[in-house]
Amino acid sequence: MLDSPSPLLLDGRLVPGSGGAFPTLDPATEEVLGEAADADAADLEVAVAAARRAFDESSWATDVAFRVRCLRQLREALRRHAGELRELTIREVGAPRFLTFGAQLDAPVDDLGWFADLAESYAWETDLGRAEPMGMPSLRRVVREPVGVVAAITPWNFPHQINLAKVGPALAAGNTVVLKPAPDTPWCAAALGVLIAEETDIPPGVVNVVTSSDHGIGARLARDPRVDLVSFTGSTATGRAVMASAAETLKKVFLELGGKSAFVVLDDADLRAACSYAAFAGVTHAGQGCAITTRLLVPRARYDEAVEITAKTLRKLGPGDPQDDSTICGPVISARQRERVEGYLELALKEGGAFACGGGRPADRDRGFWIEPTLITGLPEQARTVREEIFGPVLVILPHDGDDDAVRVANDSPYGLSGAVHGGDVDRARAVAARLRTGTVSVNGGVWYGADVPFGGYKQSGVGREMGVAGFEEYLETKAIAEGTT
Ligand code: NAD
Repeated sequence: MLDSPSPLLLDGRLVPGSGGAFPTLDPATEEVLGEAADADAADLEVAVAAARRAFDESSWATDVAFRVRCLRQLREALRRHAGELRELTIREVGAPRFLTFGAQLDAPVDDLGWFADLAESYAWETDLGRAEPMGMPSLRRVVREPVGVVAAITPWNFPHQINLAKVGPALAAGNTVVLKPAPDTPWCAAALGVLIAEETDIPPGVVNVVTSSDHGIGARLARDPRVDLVSFTGSTATGRAVMASAAETLKKVFLELGGKSAFVVLDDADLRAACSYAAFAGVTHAGQGCAITTRLLVPRARYDEAVEITAKTLRKLGPGDPQDDSTICGPVISARQRERVEGYLELALKEGGAFACGGGRPADRDRGFWIEPTLITGLPEQARTVREEIFGPVLVILPHDGDDDAVRVANDSPYGLSGAVHGGDVDRARAVAARLRTGTVSVNGGVWYGADVPFGGYKQSGVGREMGVAGFEEYLETKAIAEGTT
């Protein structure tokens, strides 16, 4: 499906990058998989102009039935190539194989169908009936319309999920898109561009894919006055920069950002089951998930026991080869990310922490970007290692003094993306969950992921919601129309 270098998708054509090409690596081996087209400012210009023209001058924005057909075609094209995409994802993302049967590939491909169904059944127009505001008889209705040109800027950790969770609803709503993926995972996005061009009737310009080694291309896209909405997923620091650039033209921004989510174990929970589950959840995909629960809060009286259970489970969890069916924790994405994680491990020691397990690179791997699953004990609540997102297989464990205290510690964070509560009495666990200031919460192992479930953050974890009806409506404008009558 993909030749090296992979192409850009510009105005319906698969073309090389004007900036040449750049390598994409397998993070498990550091092997160069091949090259991707390197888009420069000239390519971006073609992409944005094409998206603008396709929105303003074609019937894409108004032909719901055609859009629905195209989205289902895209889902089928992705399904036909699931085998190749799976191998590509494992190698380029370092994603454990088991995850590609869920959120790393199969689930977001299926989700396209949900957005197609939603567009088909959606109430695009609502009749508000007749009224006489200021004595003027009027027939009023509200119509929902696409926003226009969407800049979709995405990270590397779940590339298909995030690319499709933007492209799917944006297209279903009638927008056109310029997709700018992360430089670490260009092939996942390039594959999407190739399938759109070769196996769907999506018209030229409706989706453009600009892979680039230059983060500046993302910044330029976010500033472009022809873009109506920036849909961004990435770090909170970059999200802030995107919001500032978008402010120049007051365009809409939709931000899915970082997190440091709490996993709360109540004193009536099965400690062994809860801490084992926390260990598994915390280092899945080497902890490179924005909603992963990386702060483990346990009853003070059972802190030592919780440390022992969690560390024991973490030791069994790898890291392992992402190709193996049983691997939970693979490599981190890049040398840069490994350095970042190692910087936090050093900092943890300076801040008074200790490693109950892990704490560095595994001794038996000399190639690839590996970090051992790590549990940090003894940190004060205000330590940077406790408060900042690490984005590696690293958990911190803190004691709490009961439900109120657990809620206080969990909410004492600049972030508010997700959380988990485990307890024996489900009503009590639910009551604690209700007090967490986060966009999603899991109670006793419940899984909130799904096309119909809105996902997003409170506080500095984001603005807006992705997925679900709320996520679809982020890509819509609201127009009120009143007709004079007698
Ligand atoms: P990042 O912020 O470095 O980059 C994200 C994207 O933004 C990339 O495509 C990058 O090229 C682009 N970019 C960089 N600078 C830019 C600028 N000034 N203007 C516009 N675009 C710019 O993030 P990352 O390292 O690729 O991904 C990891 C981060 O993503 C973590 O913080 C993680 O929590 C977050 N994340 C959040 C969610 C969520 O839904 N909340 C999901 C996944 C990842």
